[in-house]
Amino acid sequence: MLLFPLAAPAVNITHTASPSLTHQPQPSAWTRLPSRRPVLTCLSTGCCQKEPPAAHSLNRVEVLSHGEGNPGVLTLAGPWAIICAGKSSNEIRTCDAHGCGQYTAQRNQKLHQGVDVLCSDGSTVYAPFTGKIMGQEKPYKNKNAINNGVRISGRGFCIKMFYIKPIKYKGSIKKGEKLGTLLPLQKVYPGIQSHIHIENCDLSDPTVYL
Ligand SMILES: [Zn+2]
Repeated sequence: MLLFPLAAPAVNITHTASPSLTHQPQPSAWTRLPSRRPVLTCLSTGCCQKEPPAAHSLNRVEVLSHGEGNPGVLTLAGPWAIICAGKSSNEIRTCDAHGCGQYTAQRNQKLHQGVDVLCSDGSTVYAPFTGKIMGQEKPYKNKNAINNGVRISGRGFCIKMFYIKPIKYKGSIKKGEKLGTLLPLQKVYPGIQSHIHIENCDLSDPTVYL
C-alpha cells in the first residue's frame, strides 16, 4: 500500500506525522549531508524514508574538485609527451652489455639516478613538458661525443636530459616541440640500446611521468 504517492504535492512528510509509520529514519546519514535534497522512498509497508542521493559519489566529486586548482595537491600536468621522434610511447631501455635502463639500476659502485628512454642515434628529441630550458648539463667530466644535455624546468617538473645536442640552451620550450637531436651513443658505447637519459633534478623516480 502506498500511503504517499509520488504524485502528491511536495509537503513535508515526517515520520511523526503518520501513525502508520514503523521504520525509523537514519539520522546519521541525514546529518552528514544536510544540504543535499533527500530522495523520498515509500515502501509497501507505508514507511517513507529519506535517503541522501548517491552520497559516496557526490563526496568523491567534491574531493576531486578541491584538488583541481590547488597546486599543493595536483601540481603535475600529467604524462609527458613522447620524447623520441618516430616512437608511439616512451620505452625504457632494458638491459644490454653496458647496463640496464631502469631507475636505480646498478651502475658500477652506484645506482642509476634516472631512466633511459629508447631513441636511435640522430633522432629528433622532443620536450616532455612545457617549460624553460635553464642551461646546459653534461653527464661526464671527460670529453666525449655524447657529453651534452640540458636542464628543463616547468609545470612543476625539473629534469636533466643527457646525450642530446639541443637546439638552444636557454629559453621557452613547449611540450612536444623539438628540443634537439640524439648524439651518437653507438660510437661511445657500441651495442648499447641508444637512449636519452632523463633524471629529475631532485633525483626522484621519473618513470611515472613517461
Ligand atoms: Zn641513464
